[in-house]
Parts: sequence; structure tokens; C-alpha cells
Amino acid sequence: MKKYILALDEGTTSARSILFDASGKAVCTSQKEFSQHYPPPVWVEQDAEEIFDAHCFTMRDCLEKSGIGPGMIAAIGVTNQRETTVVWDKETGRPVCPAIVWQCRRTADEAKKLLDGGYEEMIRSKTGLIPDAYFSATKIKWILDNVPGAREKAEAGKLLFGTVDTWLVWKLTGAKSFVTDPTNASRTMLYNINENRWDEELCRLFGVPQSMLPEVRPSGGEFGYADLMGERIPITAIAGDQQAALFGQKCFGEGDLKCTYGTGCFLLMNTGEKPVKSANRLLTSVGATLAGEKPQYVLEGSVFVGGAVIQWLRDSLGIIKNSAESEEHALRLSDNGGVYLVPAFSGLAAPYWDMAARGTLVGLTRGAGRDHIIRAALESIAFQTGDVIRAMSEDVGKKIGELKVDGGASANGFLMRFQADISALKVIRPCLREATAAGAAYLAGIACGLYPGREALKTFSPECDVFEPEMPDTERERLLSGWNRAVRACRAAE
Ligand code: ADP
Repeated sequence: MKKYILALDEGTTSARSILFDASGKAVCTSQKEFSQHYPPPVWVEQDAEEIFDAHCFTMRDCLEKSGIGPGMIAAIGVTNQRETTVVWDKETGRPVCPAIVWQCRRTADEAKKLLDGGYEEMIRSKTGLIPDAYFSATKIKWILDNVPGAREKAEAGKLLFGTVDTWLVWKLTGAKSFVTDPTNASRTMLYNINENRWDEELCRLFGVPQSMLPEVRPSGGEFGYADLMGERIPITAIAGDQQAALFGQKCFGEGDLKCTYGTGCFLLMNTGEKPVKSANRLLTSVGATLAGEKPQYVLEGSVFVGGAVIQWLRDSLGIIKNSAESEEHALRLSDNGGVYLVPAFSGLAAPYWDMAARGTLVGLTRGAGRDHIIRAALESIAFQTGDVIRAMSEDVGKKIGELKVDGGASANGFLMRFQADISALKVIRPCLREATAAGAAYLAGIACGLYPGREALKTFSPECDVFEPEMPDTERERLLSGWNRAVRACRAAE
């Protein structure tokens, strides 16, 4: 009877529920967007209650649409936007203020103080992260410092902190489970990834009482029971979105790498049982594992402007009508004609870390036109991703042979072929593009016994398309040197 897994995919802009069957196939999806609030100057907020309500709606909708009753659900798996910070009152269950979203820069000065105060090395060695407003720690501190009465209440043990997974599971279990998993904990900047526990020294540094912090349990395991339309359903997985996608892509071996091509590009590499310290300022975090397994680590690098450059072509330049059309324009040309676009709209991320860099278009001749700009935009996604792959390869001291891909822009065949060529690796695109939700479902399904272990996943979501590198080395070198010149030009721009 109980043969479905319900994955809750809590993204940055929407809540989704996806039902997976016993063969790992997604059989029904329901999605609901929630509001984003942008108080000036650079804040980003969400309403945690609205996020929870959106999930309740999608869960019910999914069951109704599919005709699958709650009694047929074996387990729930949760995956979520990471770092976003919710602080709520333990007694009333109400958040004390809006959730501070990962993109919010209100604590940038606080993060800078950490760098100026010489804390970078200590924070890096304990958490694998580079001090930044992005992570939860400075966000929690901001709430305790700025919401009236919050610090006193926190010190009296009356407030709870959670990333969105913790909040959702606390609500779903009727306040019974106050839990998270290592993939989420490792993005708070309060979690010691070497010792796998909350770090006392860091909690003191940010003034966060340990009583506010959830219990950290393995990503696939026991997280309590949700009441779903009168049925008690075990929650058996929690994983942050990027690590869930790595699991969903079945990147179980050391050196396995995935890239999610969305608005930005997120690259994660499984580095096995030892954390790798990056010489290229990539981040080290914890991977998703099941109860009883040894901890696993990941290296992470991201590209700020990935698919967003295609949105820019559409919305700001108006030279394409939709994203998919970009492929046809790029294919009209036999090569890029020496035109390169570096979409450093808000600086350059790994491995450059140059926040002053700005977008630059180089190599224009009288013969260059719309198709060249479109092609250069698509190529820029692959060049930037390639830069991160090269940095990862240097950090682990190994050549990378394969890349698993997902996300909206991975639908673009030109882009995938160019990625294979420019990075000289095999690009593998699975049939199921929902790697994040699949990861949560696979973890939950193994943990509850519906899927008989990782081996069983081999037949799930088979490879759909494989792009082999075909470009001659000399051509690759020529293009890379053009790209490097363009990057130098954009960094010179102040
Ligand atoms: P997110 O989860 O970040 O919202 P998605 O995975 O939904 O992103 O991907 C959306 C992004 O992918 C958009 O930036 C869009 O421009 C880009 N995109 C979608 N389809 C294509 C395509 N066929 N070619 C190029 N880019 C695309």
C-alpha cells in the first residue's frame, strides 16, 4: 500500500510537492509561489508562515490531483533553500520577524568586521566557509540585536532558530521535532564540519545561545512524524537544495561532480570522507548521508550570473523572446567570431572573487550582430562554469572526466555541447531534471525502506543525453585565451 514518497522542495521563490513512486518516477507535482519582500536598501525577506502554508497547499493539491491518498505515502523528504534564517517563539510558535533570505546583504558590515578582526582563518578551518553575510550566523545575530526583547528571550531559552527545513519540520510535526541535518547546519557558519557538531566558540562569537539550535541528525534518518490529512507519516530526509541535487544526481563517488544551471550555476563535487581545503576560495561543506554512514564532504563553487544572462537578453535587451530561442540563434553561427561577453553584473564569483568587476562585451567588429551577442551569452555560462571546474580540479589534484547537469538552462543543447568541449569532459544529462526533489525523495525512500539502498537507484532516472567533448585542443586553447582576455578586461573596469 505505502509505495510513494512525498518530496517537499522548498525553493527560494516557490514551494513544491512532488510524489515519487516505487520506481523513483515523479508522478505528480504541485507548485505555489510565495512572496518576496525587498525592504530598502538591500534587504530580502520572506514570511515563514506563508512558506509553511504554501507547502500545506501543495501537499494537499498533489494528493488530490493524483488521487493518491495519504495512507499510500511511505515517507516525506524535505529539501530547502539553505542559509535563510527563521527565528521563532517556542511558546507561541510565531516567528519574531520576517525570515532573512540568503540573498539579503543587511549584515555585510558585520561580515566585514569578521574579516577585519582576523577571524577568517578560524572560521574557514572550522566551518569550511568564507565569512560572508550569505550564511545564517550574522543573520541570527542581527535578529537578536535588532528585534526588541529578542536577546533576553533567546537567553532565557524561549526562542528557536532554524533554516527553513527546521521550521517546516517543526510545524509539520506539531512542534515535536526541532531538528536539522548536517548539509543545512554546515551553511550556518556555526557548525564545526570536522567534529560534526555546533561549535561553542562560534556560538559565543555571534552571541547565539546553544539552546536556540536544533538537533543535527543524518540527512536520511528519523525526523519525526507529520500529520497529513489525519495520517501519521514519517519524515525520513532533510537536505539542503544543492546537496540534495548532488544525491539526486547519484554523485556517490569521490570526484563526482554536478552543476545546476539555474539563475546562477551551482557546482558541487563529492570529495569523500575528508574535507578538502580549497586554494581557490571555494567552499567546503558537508554532503548528504544516511544514518550509520560516515560523513561525506563536498566542495562548492558558484557562478552568480548563469541562466540570468539569458533573461537579460530577453528582458533588458529584448533580442530574444524566450530562453529556449537562444539555442537557435547561437547555432546560426559557425563560431563566436571573437565576441565574448563576461556577465559580471554584480562582480565575479569563484575563482576570481572580484566584486568590483562589471559586465563587459569585447571583440565587436562591424560584422558582429545579435546572434553573436546571444552566442557569447550562452558561451559565458559555460566559460564561467569551466573556470570553477578547473579550480576544483586543482584543489583535488585530479582531472575531472564527467559532469552531471540539471536546472532550467541545462535544457539548452548548444550550451551543454559547448560545456563538454570547453571543459574537455563528458556532460551527462539525466531524464529527470528535478534532481533536487529527487535527492530528497531518494534519501527519504532509502531511509524508510521503500528503496533498497543506493544500488537500487542505479535504474532510476537513467542518462538521457551524453555530450562528449569533440573540440580539438588547439581550438579550446584559442577560445580559452579569448575568454581570459575578456575577463581581464572586465576586471580592469572600475
Ligand atoms: P531557478 O531555479 O534559479 O529559478 P531554473 O532551474 O528554473 O532556475 O532555470 C531558469 C533559468 O534558466 C533562467 O535564468 C532561464 O533564463 C534559463 N533557461 C531556461 N531555459 C533555457 C534554455 N533553453 N536556454 C538557456 N537558458 C535557459
